Amino acid sequence: KEIATILGVPVIPYTMDEAVAKLTQDTLQRKRNFVVTANAEIIMMAQDDKEYKTLLAETADLILPDGAGTVWAGNYLGYTVPERVAGYDLYLRLLEEAARNKIPVYFFGGKPGIAEEAAAEGKRRWPGLHVAGCRNGYFSAEEEPKIIEDINRSGAAMLFAALGAPKQEKWLAQYRDRLKPSLLMGIGGSFDVLAG
Ligand code: UDP
Repeated sequence: KEIATILGVPVIPYTMDEAVAKLTQDTLQRKRNFVVTANAEIIMMAQDDKEYKTLLAETADLILPDGAGTVWAGNYLGYTVPERVAGYDLYLRLLEEAARNKIPVYFFGGKPGIAEEAAAEGKRRWPGLHVAGCRNGYFSAEEEPKIIEDINRSGAAMLFAALGAPKQEKWLAQYRDRLKPSLLMGIGGSFDVLAG
């Protein structure tokens, strides 16, 4: 796949099915992926935030085209970007694959109780889903080592971080080498949606 570089952000133009298949296979083989679904807001944010832009360009493993704006921009620049891979949709598809393949999942972020609600709703939809742990997204710097330890001890292979962009990407990038889950992905306000 030819990378579509959009305002300095390297987007890989996978379809949703391709992204789901690759990320599921890689997780089962314990290959690590730090995933970002880049919508127009994220790409614009990166223009004013050098740290964020560097993180997207150098630290993220897989940046997917989230939203009509990113798909349009990629195609406008002459790349082939077949479809949008929205963060929320990808998150739901990965939960489905996690349930099917017995991949333990950790829900991190949102206001107190929201991660638990999102996990419970995930279990209702996909009864085989193995929830390794949950933790809200409000914490001090001193609590971070404990959060990392809890995630690692949980045995989770997929970590969904819903702290909003760019906080979630910065957090995942900062701790990526200490975090054991194979898949690290920021999903913004998705728990709020799934929790209902
Ligand atoms: N959030 C959090 N910790 C923070 C700030 C935000 O867990 O320190 C959560 C917040 O509760 C919400 C999500 O992050 O669930 C942010 O959602 P938003 O829709 O603002 O993010 P976006 O989808 O736009 O990235």
